[in-house]
Amino acid sequence: MHKANKSLGQNFLIDARIIDKIILSIALKKTDNILEIGPGKGAITLPLLEKVNKLYVIEVDDNLVALLKSLKKDNLIIYHFDILKFNLNIMPSNLRIVGNLPYNISSQILFFLLENRNKIKDMTLMLQKEVAERITANKNNKSYGILSVMMQAFFEVELIFIIPPTAFRPIPKVDSAIVYFKPLQKKIVKNITVFKKLIKIAFSKRRKTLKNCLKSMITQEQTSIDLSLRAESLSVNDFIKLSNDYEKQNNNNSSS
Ligand code: SAM
Repeated sequence: MHKANKSLGQNFLIDARIIDKIILSIALKKTDNILEIGPGKGAITLPLLEKVNKLYVIEVDDNLVALLKSLKKDNLIIYHFDILKFNLNIMPSNLRIVGNLPYNISSQILFFLLENRNKIKDMTLMLQKEVAERITANKNNKSYGILSVMMQAFFEVELIFIIPPTAFRPIPKVDSAIVYFKPLQKKIVKNITVFKKLIKIAFSKRRKTLKNCLKSMITQEQTSIDLSLRAESLSVNDFIKLSNDYEKQNNNNSSS
């Protein structure tokens, strides 16, 4: 019997109806290149295996890897690895990522996947509901922040459905949710490092105006975005425009 390891965010899905609903929501094709993050005891893995020719999984826990290997499934390719240290470039392109993520490192995994978005066709991920709400929030919503702007600048995102704690063992203290992500094709953020820095600073003091937060980076003369507003009032597109205006200004300065 595997004892759940809290430090690896192990809450295993046990509700067959919810597992079916997740599998259905992915709309699988036999030839899809599916990569599951954190297969655990195989709650989603086994039904996935029935639908696709080949399934890749990445699991860090030694015992769970041994358990998955003991299933002796020919079409299951198991990587005994930490997802955050995994080189996605060895995988086929057009990856469809699936996973009930370990909640303690879900933001880190999301940023890792963001960096690797050129390999990804789409992602169906289970997250803590509060994180799912932050990812999908629009401006002027209390959940709107760094995660909303970063994710929505690069992915189309949709909260698909909510899952109660009773669907897992051990039972977590929080609700969960499935979020669907599809990378946006058009590249509009000119410099992701600048974009990240600007958003971090803008949201670091939510009560202050952008003019105040960003005074060392950009002035009102350098952008058409109204800097008398607070970060929470700017849409994702406004942030992209602001960051691109900053980038343009910086390039002009360095070339003059
Ligand atoms: N998919 C299973 C399910 O739904 O029942 C397990 C989900 S559980 C929430 C998260 C899984 O991710 C665990 O199996 C855990 O061992 C694994 N995990 C935790 N950290 C990981 C990491 N850095 N890389 C890969 N897998 C990880």
